[in-house]
Order: sequence, then structure tokens, then C-alpha cells
Amino acid sequence: MNSARSLAIVAILAVPVLAQNQNQNQQRAEWNQPQKPFKVFGNTYWVGTRGLGAVLITSDRGHVLIDGALPESVPQIRDHVRELGFKLEDVRLLLNSHVHYDHAGGLGELQRLTGARAAGSAAAAKVFAAGESGADDPQYGILPPIERLKNVEVVREGQFLKVGSLIVMAHMTPGHTPGGTSWSWRSCEGPRCLDFVYADSLTPVSADGYKYTGGPMVPAFEQAFATLEKIPCDILLTPHPGASGMLEKLAARDGGKPDAFVVPGACKAYVASARKNLAARLATESGR
Ligand SMILES: [Zn+2]
Repeated sequence: MNSARSLAIVAILAVPVLAQNQNQNQQRAEWNQPQKPFKVFGNTYWVGTRGLGAVLITSDRGHVLIDGALPESVPQIRDHVRELGFKLEDVRLLLNSHVHYDHAGGLGELQRLTGARAAGSAAAAKVFAAGESGADDPQYGILPPIERLKNVEVVREGQFLKVGSLIVMAHMTPGHTPGGTSWSWRSCEGPRCLDFVYADSLTPVSADGYKYTGGPMVPAFEQAFATLEKIPCDILLTPHPGASGMLEKLAARDGGKPDAFVVPGACKAYVASARKNLAARLATESGR
């Protein structure tokens, strides 16, 4: 093959890859848009970006941080914690919704900055140790790697994790990934206490060619749905805030509705919409 022709072929092959990278960079920049940190309720704060969750739960004997967003989100998260008057070094425990680069990508750097231990499901701990998802992840092959985490304690369904007076409960909610985990806790303002749920993504997103039909992720989703439907859930937060209408709720609260974040039945509605998405995906796969 002459070199002009081989160059032309390289150019043809390179265009979709470039376009894909460009889309990915655009997506990352969009997710990473700045968001002023705010108190959601009691000792629970949003320290993430405008498009990716990072949730700080505080106590006078150490804090819990759930999710680290993208690697490039870490400077924002660090500044947000400080802006709220807390010390990053007081974070004692790092948790995660699922081990994809947009929620776990910043945790390695955050572990260096805080010295905190981490905890996750068995399947998540495997990915934290390897630094990349396995073939059991529906998005296997299209995921950027993540930085490895140290000192990851493996937790099981219903396990309590404690930091000072804080108690956070682990819920296995696989489907989006094999190790997907949701977290619940209670925050109080004076005598009023509310149940928080940071519910993992429940979307059936995959690499090209992957089929949910007949595979293990369908019963996994069913388990996650059943679990999330019965959790006490006054305030729902999600790794992608748009999935729980966070910005709309924040705007409503700023507009004079102090209880805009309190939506009894929010977790049930979240599951109902996820059930529809999964059914639509399975229908597409069967050509209906
Ligand atoms: Zn995500």
C-alpha cells in the first residue's frame, strides 16, 4: 500500500475516535461546571459540582464524604468543604455510588488529601483494587480507568458504618454496575430529623453490543429496585443531580419553599422511572 493511501485510511479511522474524545471532553466539562456548595439539611451538604454529586456529612468527630466525581472535580470539592467552614483533613471515611470515572475518579486524590479510609461493596472493592472495571460491567471497554484506592473495607447489605456520631447504612443496588451501592443516613435540625438516601444511578447504559436480556444485570436491577422502594426516604440525592431534580429543588428553596428538598416518596418515584427505562431497553433489545 502506498503511503498516501495508508495515510488516508488512518485519517478515516481517526475521525470517529477524535469525535468521540471531543464528545467525552465536552461531557466532562459540562458535568464539572461549578456549583456553590450548600447545606441540604442538618449536617448534610452538597460539595459536588453542578453536574456530579459529592456529599459531605459532618460531625464534630470527623466527616463522611460520598463520591469524588471526576479527577478534575477535586479542586472544587476541596474548596467547597473549606468554604462551608470544614477541614478536608477531618474527612475520615470515603464512600462511593459506583466505580465509574465520573463518581470515583476523584477519590484517589481525595484519599491522599484526607488520609481517610474507604468502604464499598465487594464488587466495587475489586474495581478500586484493579483501577478498572471488569468484563461484568455493562460499559466494559468504553470506560476510562480510575486511580486505585487503598484501605477499602468491604461492606455488605444493611451494614452500618460509623464516624463519631454519624451512622451511614450501605445498600447493595447493583444494575448500572455490578457493585452499585446506595447510602442512607439521618440528619437533624433541632428536634426535626429526616431520612436521606444517596441512591446510585439506575440507568441501563452499556457499551455497544451488550445485551441486558437474559443476563445477570436484570435480576440485579430488580434487587436494587426492591431495596430502594422500601428505604425510608425523605430527601433523595443522586450521583447525577439531574436524576433527582436537585437544581430545580434548590431554585425552589431559594425562591421561598424551605422544604423543597423534602419529597416523601422520592425514592419510589426514582425506582418507578428506572423500571420504565429498563423495560424500554429490554423491549429495544427484543426488537419490539
Ligand atoms: Zn455517571
